[in-house]
Amino acid sequence: MNTHLRRILIGTAITLTLLWLGGCTRERQPDVILIVADTLRHDHVGDPQVTPFLETWSRDAIVYRQCRSFSSNTNIAMAALWTGKLPSQTGVLTQVTPLPQKETTLAESYRGAGYETLAVVANPVLSARKGFAQGFDHYRATGLGGDEVLASLRSLLPQRDRTKPLFLYVHLMDTHFPYNSADYAQHFDPQPSQPFTYFDEVHRGERPIEELLFAPRLDEAGLARGRAHYKASVRKLDEVVATLAADLGETWRNAHVVFTADHGESLGEHGYHFGHSLLTYDVSLHVPLMIKVPGRQPATVDWLVNHHHLHAELQQILGGPADRTPLSLVTAHHPLHRAWGHPNLGQFNVNPFQPTVGMKSAWRSFATHREKLIVVPQPGGIPRVSFFDLITDPTEFRDLGQDGLAASKDRHLFLGAGENAEGKTPEVIAIDEAEREILRSLGYMGQ
Ligand SMILES: [Zn+2]
Repeated sequence: MNTHLRRILIGTAITLTLLWLGGCTRERQPDVILIVADTLRHDHVGDPQVTPFLETWSRDAIVYRQCRSFSSNTNIAMAALWTGKLPSQTGVLTQVTPLPQKETTLAESYRGAGYETLAVVANPVLSARKGFAQGFDHYRATGLGGDEVLASLRSLLPQRDRTKPLFLYVHLMDTHFPYNSADYAQHFDPQPSQPFTYFDEVHRGERPIEELLFAPRLDEAGLARGRAHYKASVRKLDEVVATLAADLGETWRNAHVVFTADHGESLGEHGYHFGHSLLTYDVSLHVPLMIKVPGRQPATVDWLVNHHHLHAELQQILGGPADRTPLSLVTAHHPLHRAWGHPNLGQFNVNPFQPTVGMKSAWRSFATHREKLIVVPQPGGIPRVSFFDLITDPTEFRDLGQDGLAASKDRHLFLGAGENAEGKTPEVIAIDEAEREILRSLGYMGQ
């Protein structure tokens, strides 16, 4: 065999071997990090004075400015995110309803796809006992402060199985009542030299929760200070996320990173102060959502999206079929958007409604991008109906009531959606005195 021919044969053999190896070696799946900030209003993210880290980080991210949660209540909202199902479909309709084991969560999908699934969770409502650990290899519960979450994560990460891609879920509570504001209170409080003890008094049980939520013993200046303490807690949260990113280093930079909130917070709107779970007005449902994917162009998106689009997006990373439109495919050209015909708001569910659930007398609301129905059961049996035109009244201050519903050309859809959401009695689990006290200290009443 002459030298030339031998070189050709050897070269061909090497090429075939490389092709064979390439066929056998699957590309490693990307790491995925999901950060959920509990009780974070969308309008408190983006101000460089309040969220300097997120402001800088999000310049390389896709920022969804019109994202809505499915509930103003933590476990109902998280059950909807984890399963991609409506609260009425999973039956998770109360604060003490467990996430059913028969449901398939995102964490289960990721573990099934070969990921190592880790969670560090500061909200005691999301306990393993209530089914929220399903799918996680490690599910760590911590105290409320972000520094405790960071410490837990630092002890967990060295034990990681680095042969597997990572699915990491971190649930932060710094922005939840009583607000982790101490580090930044001096900076944001308009009267920093005066002690502000009201939230601590409620937290310790010296004042009733009902008073905090509906009649806080604070004058206008005191209410402004309360809102400033919330803002200070958002500043603290931003610092925690910055530290988390620094701790994760390369992993953070190369991962698909999602930042969102489970719900917002009412800071006095509709006479509801420093709470979220009872009512379903937009301040409790409009949440930040930002996603950074290496190599994907940053963008700002004003189409209306929800946590089911996020669920589909996270499913899509695994390569499986998405049962609804993933975030990345929600565009102005989506057919449902064209049907509604509004350039800046659109609802992209297969079902055009966004049903949401609150707690006080079991509030239910149903919204398209342009109208919203809120149904509140009354002791006498006939529910109170509130109806809002979201285009002309996005803050929901002008209640059009039954007449508004009757005049809506979508009234049959609204009424049908209302009926479909009923009819399932939610399972509840018993909670003991200690759990009841934790819920009370976090600002929840009537458990
Ligand atoms: Zn929450």
